[in-house]
Order: sequence, then C-alpha cells, then structure tokens
Amino acid sequence: MATKILIVEDEEAFVDALTVSLQREGFTIDVARDGAEALDMFDTSKPDLVLLDVMLPVMSGVDVCRQIRAKSKVPIIMVTARSAEVDTVVGLEVGADDYISKPYRMRELVARMRSLLRRAQYGPDTVSAATPVTNEAIPISVGDVSVDVERHEVEIRGQSVKLPLREFELLTLLLENAGRVLTRDVLIERVWGYDYVGDTKTLDVHIKRLRNKVEDIPSEPRRIVTIRGLGYKYEAPKAS
Ligand code: CA
Repeated sequence: MATKILIVEDEEAFVDALTVSLQREGFTIDVARDGAEALDMFDTSKPDLVLLDVMLPVMSGVDVCRQIRAKSKVPIIMVTARSAEVDTVVGLEVGADDYISKPYRMRELVARMRSLLRRAQYGPDTVSAATPVTNEAIPISVGDVSVDVERHEVEIRGQSVKLPLREFELLTLLLENAGRVLTRDVLIERVWGYDYVGDTKTLDVHIKRLRNKVEDIPSEPRRIVTIRGLGYKYEAPKAS
C-alpha cells in the first residue's frame, strides 16, 4: 500500500507544488488547510507521516502537533517560515520529529521524510532518533566538487570544506542544476527566501566567495559562470 502523507498547509502555492512533487515520489496525499481540519483528517486518513505548517488558520501547527502527539507516534515534520519559528518549534518540544524551513528543496524534504518513515517502520526499539543516519546521504557531485545535503558536507578536489549556510545552499542549488542557467531571481528566492529585501549585491558577494573556493583561478571562473543579463550557471569541468 502506498505511503500516505497528510499535508497541513494553508498556502495554495505550497499545497500544489508539494502535492505534485510528492505524488511523483509515489506518496498518496491528503491535504488539510487549517489546524482543526488537520485533526479531523488525521483520524479519518490515518497518515504514515504528517507535514505540518506552523502558521495555520484556526489552530497553530504547534497545537496541532501536541494534540496529534498525545494520541499517536506518527512521524511529524514541522514546516517553518522564519527562523523565529524554528526556535519556537525546537524550544517548546512539541513532539515533532524534524523541522524544515521555507523555502526548502524538495529533494531535502523527501530525504528527511524517507528517513523518518524508515525509522517508524523499524520501530523505536531498533533505531532510535539518536542513531546516526547512514546510507541515506545522496551526495551531488559535479566534477571534483560534491555536496552531501544530509550531512551538510562539501568536498572540493578531495578536500572537505566548511561552508557557511547560504554559500552551502547556493552551491547545492547550482550543482543540482548543473548545465542549466539559474536566474538571479530564482537564486535569491531559493536561497534567501520570498521576503528577501537585502541588496541584490548579496548574491554576487556569495558567488564571489564560492568562486574563491571552487575555481582554480577565481578571477577566471570556469565552473560558476556568469550568464550576462540572466544569472549564473554551474558548468561541469570538461575532461582534458
Ligand atoms: Ca502557513
């Protein structure tokens, strides 16, 4: 039987995108659009995992999480829109198994969902939440640069490199889309979020920092190339 996911989300754009992507991953989807509907639907739909937005009409995601947790061990991933909400979710110990912040990459969300579903399947006696995660890191490699989203690790020319969060997300996005042009708008939206109000130079500053780390000659970039008037593209190094 297909794994059933209950999506609790009031923003139509997210509902549509999630439904399409998760169905493509083979999941069956039910959608609740407010907190009260989520609780009703939880009882009838008996989902294998709940994807729960924090900011909801009628009843907050935090309260929904507490009420579901009072009667079920179902894996719950909280979806937060701001870092302040992350603090709330983590600080209150509402019983969520994981959380993810908007905007997130579908790939990362699905990896976390599968990880929780596996743990739930094998039960708390065999695999605890504290068990180090193995086998599920799917590194993205292009040439001699690779990122491991699950482990938050970057390897450049065989060397492990520590990157600040935004640089890490920017590099991941570029590698995932290697060979394709990413417009400035898309990069800013995906890495900094919808409510990005900073100077658009911020993107260029981060690109420059990344080039200093991944390019052989940072002033003559051959990997992170500028597509004038559009944005940037990650070019796989050609075999010499
Ligand atoms: Ca919301």
